[in-house]
Amino acid sequence: MTEDDGRRVALITGGSRGLGAGLVTAFLDADYCVETCSRSSTDAVREWESVHPDRFHFTAADVSQPHDADRFVKEATARRGRIDVLVNNAGVARDGVISLFRDEPIDQVIDLNLKGTIYVTRAASRVMLRRHAGSIVNISSVVGLSGYRGLSVYSATKAALDGFTRALARELGSRGITVNSVAPGYLRTEMSHGLDEDQLGQITRRTPLGRLGDPEDVARAVLFLVDPSNRFITGQVLVVDGGLTS
Ligand code: NAP
Repeated sequence: MTEDDGRRVALITGGSRGLGAGLVTAFLDADYCVETCSRSSTDAVREWESVHPDRFHFTAADVSQPHDADRFVKEATARRGRIDVLVNNAGVARDGVISLFRDEPIDQVIDLNLKGTIYVTRAASRVMLRRHAGSIVNISSVVGLSGYRGLSVYSATKAALDGFTRALARELGSRGITVNSVAPGYLRTEMSHGLDEDQLGQITRRTPLGRLGDPEDVARAVLFLVDPSNRFITGQVLVVDGGLTS
């Protein structure tokens, strides 16, 4: 595949499961070439590899490590010749009260959610700058806006991502690159398995639309923001939470 093929190319971190898998599916359905990465493969990844051998590629990479983040972007660019879309989705949540937090989970959450996003964006922006075009979407979270008891470190990284989005939108706008955040509410993925039934019931009751979100709800918002016809939207945080924080 080369730039001459003209098909749009999306890089999506953490696409092996959860929201990332929903994003990969939605971008493949929208006829994109999709490059994704995570630390390990899954059945979903093997299925895409066999159904879309030309349009889908998986790289084993830990994007909290700068070398891996650079390698993911470099190999994808060598294969596809361009990057139209970057979705920084890979993230991890570790909960606990702040007074008892150990160093290791603090580092893990900051290294992936914040530093990993910065490493991948740094590498991908160099490719986008060459073509004066591109769209970057950072997956943050409503807890970065409203906070959540026991998720202080995670919430701090998500609020930081929204700041990163706003600053980069100013830095890259004149170079034809849009940067937005999508802030999901609570989704049905492995990450929300850390919440107990009481917490999930409470969240559902407080949500005007009366349910948790699905990966497809978020994927539709991401596709909207990266659609070439929506190129006057940048520096925004689009909340997709069924009205929870309204
Ligand atoms: P998930 O089900 O735990 O999936 C996380 C994905 O990221 C997996 O593909 C995982 O694969 C990958 N990943 C983890 N560590 C990685 C690393 N160091 N390098 C590369 N990939 C890595 O999480 P999710 O619920 O889909 O969450 C996706 C995003 O949505 C996150 O940014 C999260 O903060 C955000 N979000 C989720 C919710 C929710 O309710 N679930 C709500 C708001 C926002 P490996 O483990 O194999 O690496």
